[in-house]
Amino acid sequence: MKLVFLGPPGAGKGTQASMVCQRFAIPHISTGDMLRAAIANGTETGMKAKVFMDRGQLVPDEVLIEMVRERLNEKECEKGFLLDGFPRTVDQAEALEGIAAPDVVVDVDVADEKLLDRLTGRRVCEKCGESFHVAKIGDAKVCSHCGGTLIQRDDDKPATIRNRLDVYHRQTAPLIDYYRGKGALRTVDGDQTPEKVFEAILVVLGG
Ligand code: AMP
Repeated sequence: MKLVFLGPPGAGKGTQASMVCQRFAIPHISTGDMLRAAIANGTETGMKAKVFMDRGQLVPDEVLIEMVRERLNEKECEKGFLLDGFPRTVDQAEALEGIAAPDVVVDVDVADEKLLDRLTGRRVCEKCGESFHVAKIGDAKVCSHCGGTLIQRDDDKPATIRNRLDVYHRQTAPLIDYYRGKGALRTVDGDQTPEKVFEAILVVLGG
């Protein structure tokens, strides 16, 4: 099972990806999380990536393609994987065809006006990565799952969010047609409760 999750920032991809990976026991490969870990560890890749991420821009393709190639070559990925946040450009998608072409590409579809609210209100756990929304948790500072500290991602500030949505429409949305052309695309309405979105994803995955 080789899966790709597409969708704009704030569509709930990460949450859904975690649930799907748990259900099917496949590794969840989030390139955003990998880059944030690289920054936290002060690696060369992390330092290079941070400048782009803070501006809401994409990190250069060659950095991402190498990072994903190495990860997918690990034994853990032999039985399948879920890529969350990669590919984000047609060049990345073409590179992925040469590494491990996806069987199914799930597009979690949400309109822009909803995304802005979701992203500005998003808080994430520094420790386990779980996302929450201030509309539900108020000003809670502690993760209800693991007790970690809740923070606002640097790139979830309004000016950066606009940039990320713009980047999504210009660079990543063309992948919808790319994968439709390959017959791999399955679109799911992301403007529903997380439980309903998950059910819809299971339907398109045939399980
Ligand atoms: P995410 O957590 O998926 O929203 O990613 C956060 C940021 O990491 C993005 O805004 C990009 O700057 C960078 N990033 C993550 N994945 C990619 C990718 N596939 N290509 C380029 N940049 C990426």
